Amino acid sequence: MRKDNIAVFFPKNLNDLLSIYSSNPEAEILAGALEFMNNSNVTHIKKIISITSVSELKKVHRTDKYIDLGAATTISQILRIGQYVIPPILYNALKSIGSPSIRNIATIGGNILQSSIISNSLPVLCALNAGFELRNLSKSRWLPASQFITNDKKNILNKDEVLVRIRIPLTFWHTQIFKKVTLKSNIYPAQLIFCGLAHIAKSIISDMKIVLGRPNKSLFRNRSIETYFIGKKLPISDKDINQLTEILDDTLEQVEDTDEKEFYLRNTTIRLIVNFFKELKQ
Ligand SMILES: Cc1cc2nc3c(=O)[nH]c(=O)nc-3n(C[C@H](O)[C@H](O)[C@H](O)COP(=O)(O)OP(=O)(O)OC[C@H]3O[C@@H](n4cnc5c(N)ncnc54)[C@H](O)[C@@H]3O)c2cc1C
Repeated sequence: MRKDNIAVFFPKNLNDLLSIYSSNPEAEILAGALEFMNNSNVTHIKKIISITSVSELKKVHRTDKYIDLGAATTISQILRIGQYVIPPILYNALKSIGSPSIRNIATIGGNILQSSIISNSLPVLCALNAGFELRNLSKSRWLPASQFITNDKKNILNKDEVLVRIRIPLTFWHTQIFKKVTLKSNIYPAQLIFCGLAHIAKSIISDMKIVLGRPNKSLFRNRSIETYFIGKKLPISDKDINQLTEILDDTLEQVEDTDEKEFYLRNTTIRLIVNFFKELKQ
């Protein structure tokens, strides 16, 4: 179908989608199209493949161990599954995306793949050890969410690939903290996303994950902090909090205190991580 000199394809199933994409590699995949509607730099787009009718991309499947979300499932549909099924940290992250009308349109795949701001969902999916299924016409591959974006903040989806589903392990975590700090700027606010998970047994941290999404930077995860705190007894001592602050100060990129925004983001990153440890309870 052609609209205003743009060819728009509406595949109904995954095979059709992949073969249309393979024959039209220059086409733009669109799900809820929110990014497209908010971007004035789209005049070069001549072909669009809408994935909203692809049945396989809208499926949700649950087992005892994981839940699979089709990439074109909307944020509202996922929220309706409920916080007793999907991990509460993901529920809270998705609930804080835009307004209800935005969540009715935005898809989980589009949220992961958007380039405008750091998505609410990607840092959480990394912390939860989620996997992404990527497919082209000839093969399928699985990739951990943590390997999905590179240091220069580009995703590693190949041009002929489509994100098909997101697999989220249903591992139990005692503590699941999601926080979003918003800095108002331009069209989209710059966001700092904090995700902290901890498993605590007899007042001892037996496992933990901390992931942050930061504006214009790759995701932040420091395994040496996690290793340092696994095995520690609660409450965390002042000595360990001081040690944590030192590790963070050494690890995070140094910024000039004249660069107010970066300086604020760096200090806020440290504060969010330190507070997570100070507030950990059995
Ligand atoms: C007012 C407003 C407030 C917002 N607030 C927030 C917020 O607080 N937090 C937040 O995280 N986001 C926020 N957003 C961004 C919004 O969440 C994203 O724009 C939305 O999730 C994108 O989803 P979509 O389905 O519309 O994706 P689209 O716009 O259709 O696609 C986005 C990108 O992903 C690609 N893509 C989509 N699906 C696939 C797939 N299955 N395979 C391959 N490529 C694919 C597209 O080609 C495109 O490049 C906000 C947006 C608006 C307009």
